[in-house]
Amino acid sequence: MHWRFHLVLILLLGSMLSRTQSILLIPDRVFDGESFLDGWQVLVQGTLIKEIKPVISVDKGTTILKLPGTTLMPGMIEGHSHILLHPYDETSWNDQVLTESRSERVLRAALHLKASLMAGFTTLRDLGTEGVDYADVEIKQALAKGILIGPDLICAGRAIVATGSYGPKSMVFSSPRGAEEADGQDLIRVVRDQIGHGVDVIKIYADYRWGPFGAAMPTFSIEEIKSIVETAASSGRRVVAHASTKEGMRRAILGGVSTIEHGDEGDAEIFALMKKFKVSLCPTLAAGEAIMSYKGWEKNTDSLPDRIKAKMMSFKLALQSGVKIIFGGDVGVFAHGENARELLLMKEYGMTNIEVLKTATSINADVFGLDHKGSIKPGYLADIVIVMGHPGEDLKAVQSIKLVMKSGKILQP
Ligand SMILES: [Zn+2]
Repeated sequence: MHWRFHLVLILLLGSMLSRTQSILLIPDRVFDGESFLDGWQVLVQGTLIKEIKPVISVDKGTTILKLPGTTLMPGMIEGHSHILLHPYDETSWNDQVLTESRSERVLRAALHLKASLMAGFTTLRDLGTEGVDYADVEIKQALAKGILIGPDLICAGRAIVATGSYGPKSMVFSSPRGAEEADGQDLIRVVRDQIGHGVDVIKIYADYRWGPFGAAMPTFSIEEIKSIVETAASSGRRVVAHASTKEGMRRAILGGVSTIEHGDEGDAEIFALMKKFKVSLCPTLAAGEAIMSYKGWEKNTDSLPDRIKAKMMSFKLALQSGVKIIFGGDVGVFAHGENARELLLMKEYGMTNIEVLKTATSINADVFGLDHKGSIKPGYLADIVIVMGHPGEDLKAVQSIKLVMKSGKILQP
């Protein structure tokens, strides 16, 4: 490159940097992803967090935002969403997959993304399009171009199921499936094909309701799961497994998956195995409660259904075992933007407020391999949420959004 071109480039960069906006945020306290820091301040420059200290001196031209009565925390990371689904009490899953057009589902997804972001969720791990091919990957590309506003996405694309196990099912015609079917040796080809289509993680269904009378039963063998994990790992990708039965969970753990979704039949033995193999649990408590409510259960008046009682017991065992628990509610089963329902249930089922807040920030960032997200630290992405009140004292504060910042840009709810 010619030296004169270098000079022009340096001048250009210099003028761009001087125009980079700096914002000093002054809440009552900061939750940095680990602990609360009373009276601390955060300086954002451009898209990044520049400083976090008790008192920060700033240049002229820095915008100063005083935010009394608030807590500043990292943008929250939803661990299990389906932006291409909407609540099942509006339209059943079967009818969404079989009768809603791709255009309708994508348009709905755009609204879901906005609702999630404005509720303080700046990254979503989206675990399957449920019959809309790679629409999630395509939406992610549109987000990168700035066509619409939304959280960053970690996409699973079509997801993989064992032949014959998944829905929707019809006795009349061969219906489209909510995920891609594959078995045995063919799994290697399908994993590679999904990676080629741009998925960030591989999602598999290690069990599904395909047993006698619709009971959940295991699907893939350990050998099949191992081949999926090995193929995905070769491209640097992880595998997440839907599993609610004990045997499905056991096979997924021994097959080498990174997280288990739901895990309803998890007991002390299975959680110990998860801990040993460093597999994290995404309990999706909110989906379980939502589905019971769609069946007529009134939480505040009716007694606890057996399914909820069992889930509460299993969650307690998970807490006692020390298995790493991540935050993910299976949002889409219930309304997008109401992601915090899962956080409140994690507390109700036995976690402390600070444990819950860590799962939604630093722990999810760590488990999903997201560098420079989930904590308030210099050099980290300025994905920030400011809530009214003190979520360490009253967790419901996470539902009182004052302001959301995505990559340094302020969005007012
Ligand atoms: Zn799900």
